[in-house]
Amino acid sequence: MEHFEESLLKLIIDTSTNLPPDVRRAVEQAQIREEIGSRAALALETIVENVLLAEEEQGPICQDTGMPTFEVHTPVGANQIVMERQIKAAVAEATRLGKLRTNSVDSLTGKNTGDNLGPGTPVIHFHQWENDEIDVRLILKGGGCENKNIQYSLPMELPGLGKTGRDLDGIRKCIMHAVYQAQGQGCSAGFIGVSIGGDRTSGYQHAKEQLFRHLDDHNPIKELAELESYIMEHANELGVGTMGFGGRISLLGCKIGVQNRLPASFFVSVAYNCWAFRRQGVRIDPRTGEILNWIYKQGTSDLKRKEFAGFSDKVKVLRAPISEEEIRALHVGDVVLISGEMHTGRDAIHKYLMDHDAPVSLEGGVLYHCGPVMMKDDEGKWHVKAAGPTTSAREEPYQAEIIQKFGLRVVMGKGGMGAKTLAGLKASGAVYLNAIGGAAQYYAKSVEAVDGVDYLEEFGIPEAMWHLQVDGFPAIVTMDSHGNSLHADVDDHSFKKLEEFADPVY
Ligand code: SF4
Repeated sequence: MEHFEESLLKLIIDTSTNLPPDVRRAVEQAQIREEIGSRAALALETIVENVLLAEEEQGPICQDTGMPTFEVHTPVGANQIVMERQIKAAVAEATRLGKLRTNSVDSLTGKNTGDNLGPGTPVIHFHQWENDEIDVRLILKGGGCENKNIQYSLPMELPGLGKTGRDLDGIRKCIMHAVYQAQGQGCSAGFIGVSIGGDRTSGYQHAKEQLFRHLDDHNPIKELAELESYIMEHANELGVGTMGFGGRISLLGCKIGVQNRLPASFFVSVAYNCWAFRRQGVRIDPRTGEILNWIYKQGTSDLKRKEFAGFSDKVKVLRAPISEEEIRALHVGDVVLISGEMHTGRDAIHKYLMDHDAPVSLEGGVLYHCGPVMMKDDEGKWHVKAAGPTTSAREEPYQAEIIQKFGLRVVMGKGGMGAKTLAGLKASGAVYLNAIGGAAQYYAKSVEAVDGVDYLEEFGIPEAMWHLQVDGFPAIVTMDSHGNSLHADVDDHSFKKLEEFADPVY
C-alpha cells in the first residue's frame, strides 16, 4: 500500500478541480434548454467558464470544498486503521496545496484547525466487501447546499401542497417541495439524492449515498424509476432557475432510494447538491495502493465557452467608494462590474461588527459574503485561489444594521436576503448584488491584489476580513434600493407553481 496516500491525494485534487463528465453533460443540457439572453443563461455561461478555468488551473471549482466525505469498500483483511491515517494525511496535504479550503472549525471556540482535520472531519465510512479491490468514493458537498437538505416526517401538511401521506404521492410532494425550498441558496440548478424510510440519521446518510449513482443510470425499482422521471420532467416547471434567478432549469438530477422503516416513522430525506456536484471515485490495487481506474470518468462532454449574447445595454460600472446617487440609479436586473477595493465578511465578521468598529473605513464600500481559498507565497504575499460568494441569508439578522452603521453601499453574496435587509437597503441607499455561486475561479481572476487582512488569527482564513483590489468583478442587482427583490418575486412565482402539484398523481 505504498502508493495509497498518493492515490488519495490524486482523488481529492481531481474531485475538487475537475467536474465529472456526467455532471458536465447535465450542465450542457441546461445551457441548451435555457432561454438565450436571460439572467439564468448568463449564470450558466459563468458556471461553464468557471468549470473550464478550474480544470485548466487545477484550482477548486468552488471555494467551499465542503465536508470531505469518503465511502470506502475494502477487501476482508485490509488494515482500515492505516488507511484512515493515510486518508487524513492526504486531506491535510490537499489543504496545504490549496485544493481544499480550511473547513474544519471547532464548534465551541470557532477556531479553524487549518488542515481540515478534527473531531468528525473528514467523514470516512468503511465497508467490507467480497471483492479483491479497494473502492474509494469522495463527495465534496459545500455548506450552502448542505444547509438546504431537508427531511420530512409523514404524514404532514406541506405548504402549498396540502395533505401529504405515507405513499408514493406523498413522497412525490416532498421532493417537489424540496426543490422549491432550496431556491437559489443551494446554488441551483441542483442534484438531489432522496431516501425513503430509515430513521432520521440513516435517512440522511442514505440520501447522500444516492448522489454516488451515475446520472444516466436506471433505477431498478419500477415505481422509483417512474418517480425519478416525473420529478425530472416537472421540477423544472417550478421556475426557480439557475442561482434562483428564475428560468427553465431548476433541477439537473434526481436519484431515489428506499430502505425499511419503523412502523411509527416514515421519513423522506433529501440531500440537495448544488450544480458544483463534485464526486469522484477510484478502484485501488490493495497490494500497491495504486489507482487501477476512475469511477466517474466515462463518456465525454462538450462543455465549451460560448459568447454571451445579452445584457450589454444594462451593464453599469461601479468604482468603490460608491455614492448614494450611483446606487439609487440601479434597478433589479442590472449587471454591475465592480472595480476598486472590496472587503470580505461572513458569519464571524457580521457578529463581530455588531458590537465593534470596523478595522478599516467601510464608507461607500462593498462587503462581499465570501470565504476565499488563500495561499501565501514564499515572500509572505497572499494570493486568492478561489473566491465565489457564500449564502447571504445567514447574515439576515445583522445586515441592515451593519449597512447603516458603516455606510456600506453594496453587499454581495448569493441566494438573496430577506425583508429586513430589503428595508435596510431602501433606508440607507444600498444594493444587494448576487454573484454566481460556485464560480470561484472565475471571480478569483477578477482580483488584482490582496491589500491586507484583519482577524486572520481570531477567525481563520474563510472567516477573516480580506481587503481585495478587484477589476471588473461582475454581479447582478437582485435587490435594489427601491424595495424590489428578484428573490421574493421568484419565490412567489415558484410557490404558485408548486401549488399546481397539489392534486394526486398516484
Ligand atoms: S456552488 Fe454554492 S452551494 Fe455549492 S459549494 Fe459552492 S457556494 Fe456552496
